[in-house]
Amino acid sequence: MVKPHTKNIPISPEIRIGGKDIIFIAGPCAIESYRQARDIAMAMRKAGLHIMRGGAFKPRTSPHTFQGLGKEGLEILRQVADEFGLLVITEALSVEHLPLVMEYADIIQIGSRNMQHFPLLWAVGETEKPVMLKRGFMSTVEEWLLAAKHITTRGNPNIILCERGIRTASDAGSNTLDVNAIALLKETCPYPVIADPSHGTGRSDLVLPAAKAALAAGADGLMVEFHPHPPQALSDKEQAVALEVLPQFVEEMRALAGVLGREIV
Ligand code: PEP
Ligand code: MN
Repeated sequence: MVKPHTKNIPISPEIRIGGKDIIFIAGPCAIESYRQARDIAMAMRKAGLHIMRGGAFKPRTSPHTFQGLGKEGLEILRQVADEFGLLVITEALSVEHLPLVMEYADIIQIGSRNMQHFPLLWAVGETEKPVMLKRGFMSTVEEWLLAAKHITTRGNPNIILCERGIRTASDAGSNTLDVNAIALLKETCPYPVIADPSHGTGRSDLVLPAAKAALAAGADGLMVEFHPHPPQALSDKEQAVALEVLPQFVEEMRALAGVLGREIV
């Protein structure tokens, strides 16, 4: 079977997702403060990375936990990203938030819980912004691709898929990163595929090996959660990789990318 050519999605004049380069997106689960976000942006810049993540509107399972800083979180993320010359990806949680998030983000993230939130898919489909569609943690690959179709049929072709782990019988983490799906999508579908080994494992000690497995399976990028002080993180602290480890983490990924004939940016 002939493999489809992966679409090369422009994020900025210099940065594209889906080419030979592997995009390493890093950042906190949630933007918590200017200081926290700035420390991460600075470390990313030093490591030669280009796209910063960070939630401002958080889809939390419990209503009693930190829900994100909202508009203030978007402002902080954009400010520190601009200071260090980074691009921004952040989640639009609802149709109502989309216009605001569009003002701050270079890529719109649709979260796992919203993969089949059709009005939101239609709304991002009517924009031209790149959209990163996360896989529903109980969704099949087929359902995921149909969700992507809901976006493209409204006119927006700039889709990036993100495998973020699914629920399985495995107890080796809170989710199971579906490496099979990454390999399958690279065989059958034209969208770039990013792997999220943070939510895909739920455990900081498994993030690096899972990231390696994802690259080996053909992922076009990674999205990894870092925090300057993981035990104090306001969300997803069990999976946050310590910021001090970021340079080493990126180095290990660069070495593996080299073996695969690709480069990390
Ligand atoms: C996230 O990436 O911040 C997030 C909430 O992930 P997911 O939607 O995959 O749970
Ligand atoms: Mn998170």
